[in-house]
Amino acid sequence: MGTFNTVTHFKHFYLTPLFFFAICLLSSCASTPKKYETGYFGLFDTYTSIIIYAKNEGEFKRCADGIHDRLLELHRYFDIYDTYDGVNNLKTVNDMAGVAPVPVRGEIIGLLQFSKEMYYETNGAFNIALGPVLSIWRDYREAGVQHPEGAAPPPMEILLEASAHTDIEKLIIDAERMTVFLTEPGMSIDVGAVAKGYAAQLVVEQLTDGVSVIMDIGGNIVAVGKPPGKRGLWNVGVMNPDKETGADELLTTLKTESAAVVTSGDYQRYYEADGVRYGHIVDPYTLMPAARYRSVTVVHADSGLADALSTALFILPYDDGLKTAERFGAAVMWMTRGDEIYKNERFERYESEKK
Ligand code: AMP
Ligand code: MG
Repeated sequence: MGTFNTVTHFKHFYLTPLFFFAICLLSSCASTPKKYETGYFGLFDTYTSIIIYAKNEGEFKRCADGIHDRLLELHRYFDIYDTYDGVNNLKTVNDMAGVAPVPVRGEIIGLLQFSKEMYYETNGAFNIALGPVLSIWRDYREAGVQHPEGAAPPPMEILLEASAHTDIEKLIIDAERMTVFLTEPGMSIDVGAVAKGYAAQLVVEQLTDGVSVIMDIGGNIVAVGKPPGKRGLWNVGVMNPDKETGADELLTTLKTESAAVVTSGDYQRYYEADGVRYGHIVDPYTLMPAARYRSVTVVHADSGLADALSTALFILPYDDGLKTAERFGAAVMWMTRGDEIYKNERFERYESEKK
């Protein structure tokens, strides 16, 4: 095969399941499992909803609790806003920028190694060291949402000043000592583009074979196994960014077995100033919010990769994005600001027959 196998290529960024307990141990049963649902706020700054097919309520609860507890643990490791007793997390790493290496859990090492690799894979479009720039945009967004009358983009001088502290080479990951060090004061990591998908992938790798689960962590959807039924495929809808203005709710529906379907959009976190929409995905080359697309959806077997790619492809020009997607064997749909839709062939294969 001409293209390399991405799943194998990135495998080492995930810990081997041997270190983990299995989540969702299901008893074998001949009868058709029932559909159960749960959902909660509080993890990864978003809403999580989960569907589990289980034999009975007890089995469902054990499985749902196992997933929730593991997601909560990962949320705490990857959190850049809060610290927790007894845990060195990414906020600790950011707080210690320019001071000292921080001993961290393997999950953090894996997430950061993977994210650094994605920086090179995307020519720097995807950069988790963009923290100082992203936090300026976040402050202006929050102010702009609260007080729309005074909303404005940040001055370029302060963005440029912040961008002097975004060199990913100064993120030192020592996988042997299990430490992470931002060597320059003022640096900070922001994993908003990848943490949800990466965490979901870690959970998926701990699920027992044979489970049927679909999780949606703030638009990061991961389907595992097959739902009961003749066709045994999950239906995953891709939201239409225009649905608020009365358009169809979905852009399309995908039919798939196990896969991650991740969308980055300009309708999720944004503000407007003088009629211009400023989204939350920032182009490191211009330091301005990427403005080519309304949404980019990526389908891939690996949820962490799908998440990182959806953000990167939201920034990259179409030709570069398409090449990157093909290299990873990713299925992609782009919706431009002019409401044009582009898809690669891989994506079309997932689409349902049009009604
Ligand atoms: P997503 O919704 O997965 O596309 O992630 C968007 C989030 O990623 C933003 O809210 C920021 O926290 C972060 N982000 C924005 N721009 C970039 C970038 N160029 N590289 C890496 N992360 C980014
Ligand atoms: Mg993403």
